Order: sequence, then C-alpha cells, then structure tokens
Amino acid sequence: MIITIRQQASSEERAHLMALLCRITGSQNPITTIEIDGHTVIALDHQHLDTQASSVLGEQSAVERVLPIKTAYKLVSRAFKAENSRIQVGDPRNCDSVAIGGPAATPVIIAGPCAVENREQLLSTANAVKKAGARILRGGAFKPRTSPYQFQGLGVEGLYLLAEARQLTGLPIITEVMEPDMVETVAQYADILQIGSRNMQNFPLLLAAGRHSQKRPVMLKRGLSATIDEWLLAAEYIIAAGNPNVILCERGIRSYDPQTRNVLDLSCIPLLHGLTHLPIIVDPSHATGKRELVPTMSRASIAAGAEGLIIEVHPDPNSALCDGRQSITPEQLQRIVRDTHILAHMISTEIDFSQVA
Ligand code: PEP
Ligand code: MN
Repeated sequence: MIITIRQQASSEERAHLMALLCRITGSQNPITTIEIDGHTVIALDHQHLDTQASSVLGEQSAVERVLPIKTAYKLVSRAFKAENSRIQVGDPRNCDSVAIGGPAATPVIIAGPCAVENREQLLSTANAVKKAGARILRGGAFKPRTSPYQFQGLGVEGLYLLAEARQLTGLPIITEVMEPDMVETVAQYADILQIGSRNMQNFPLLLAAGRHSQKRPVMLKRGLSATIDEWLLAAEYIIAAGNPNVILCERGIRSYDPQTRNVLDLSCIPLLHGLTHLPIIVDPSHATGKRELVPTMSRASIAAGAEGLIIEVHPDPNSALCDGRQSITPEQLQRIVRDTHILAHMISTEIDFSQVA
C-alpha cells in the first residue's frame, strides 16, 4: 500500500502515524517517507496488514489517502501514478535541459561512444552527434568488461572529458557508475547516472543512486536475464531510497542464439507502459550487437512507443576500443534521428492507459 501524508499534517500527527505504523508492521524495516511530485508518501508491503489495520490507518489525521497496491512494486506502478513521469535532465546553468517521457513527449536520442577513449575521439563524436540531432551525449568512463584484459575505461579522467564535451556542445551527459562509493563523484559530472545490466540487482548501488545528494536521474538498464518484475523492483529500490527520477532501458536479454548479441524485447515497451509510469529508452546497440541491425530496431522501438533511444556512435567504428561491431557512424545516426521524428509524429495519438490490462 501507499500512504499519502496530508501536506498540512502537524509534526505531532506525523509522529503519531509513524508510531502506529511501527506497531502494526512490527518494525521489520524502518518506516521511511519519500517526496514524490510534491507529496510525502510511505510505501509498504500491505500483505502483512489486515483490512482492519488499513482502515485504521485511513482514519489517521495525518493521512490524506491509503492506496492498496497488489503488485510487489509500488512506487513505480501505474496504479500509484496514472500519468507518465517526465524526467528532467540537465542543469540549465551548464547545458540544455531535456525532458524524457511525460505527456505528449517527443522521443529523445542519446548517442555517443561506448567508451571515452581520448579527448579528440570524445569531442569530435560529441560535435558530430549533436549535429546529427542527438539531445544527450553518452560515453563510458568506467567500463564493466567481461575480460579483465579489455580496455576498462579512463576512470575519473573520462568524467573530466565528458564535462568538457558538455561545455563544448551544451549536451547533457550520461555515464555509467559501477560502485556505490563512486555515486557522489560521478553525480558531480554526469547529468544521468547509468546503472548497467550487470549491476541491475546490485542493491547497495541502487540504494546509493537513490540516496545521493544531487538526485540525478538514473537510467536503469535491464539485467542480462532479468524478468520485468525484477527490473521494476530494482527501480523501486532507487525510488524508495529517495530518488524518483528513474528511466528504464531495455537493452536486450540473453538467449541461446549467438547470431545477435541479445534479443531485443520489443513487447516489453507496451507491457511496461501498462505497468509503470516511468519512461522507457531502448538500446538497439547492445540489444543486437550488429550495427546493420541498429537502424531497423531503432525504428521498431519508436513505433512500439519507446520514449527514446540510446545508440553507440563512433567516428571510426572499426577502430573503437569497445563495442565497435555495434557502433554506427554519425551519418547513420542522422538518418535514425530523421526517421524517429517522422515515426513519432505518425504515432503521436494518445494511448489510453486505463484500457491496458
Ligand atoms: C554500455 O552501455 O556500454 C553497457 C555496458 O551496457 P549494458 O550494461 O547494457 O551491457
Ligand atoms: Mn557498449
């Protein structure tokens, strides 16, 4: 259940409610309040609460409403919030401000190299993706590589270069954070924190991304073989820890067929739109692993209703230090941006989510 606290509730009324909640839940976990869209809410797993306890809660003077939610995830659910969340990216004092999701949103293209390799490579790619119509720059400074002998990224040096690229182009930047202790540092530079597939269920990292002081938006990539419910519960960790700015990213899931790196689960887009208010970005680069498939799967993702794309772009894909096989050129990106605008315009009729099961 989700309990919304009345804005005018006094501190005594709030304290009384907290004490009551501790009593009826048996204080298994500390009861925490979360600020979402100007409301203070408390999320609980109501299976432990009987109907009588819920009606007692509803009668408390501090309580505005008690919303029963049957799914294990609460705050990410469409049942909690009917309208699409709009995630605002970029500090207007140092770059463009870009909205991802929300009512009548236009899809946002995020593009850039898999890894920040050097200053020249990053700055030239940043300029080129901006010219091609991308709105946000991607680039990995800390790279989670399968082999310890592969390029691991430039680390903090890569963050400085990303900040320089932002200053040059005005594009907000997204980069991956792999460790809880690095969240504050990465958040000083990044406009969006990326949590990669391999870390989707790194719970200390999810909590750190939820709690960090700047509350930067977090793009949570789907785990290599995560179910939709596991993914939504991972997003719930971040929001329940205090950061409501979460974007989901479908990047393909493991299958038995080595022809593609992963299998792009396109059906998850309309499915998630029924289950959650969070925006969904698709990564056709990691989903396919083959650059020739990226334009088609980009179009398919937009047609399926994705709020944006994140695409790997390199000025010379064959010489990329990481994921060159799936990287496209800035010229190819330009055509994807054009197609995205055409398709988004064609499908801009409102979807009635109340009709989605
Ligand atoms: C990436 O975005 O470069 C990356 C490592 O992605 P994923 O976590 O989806 O594999
Ligand atoms: Mn990559």
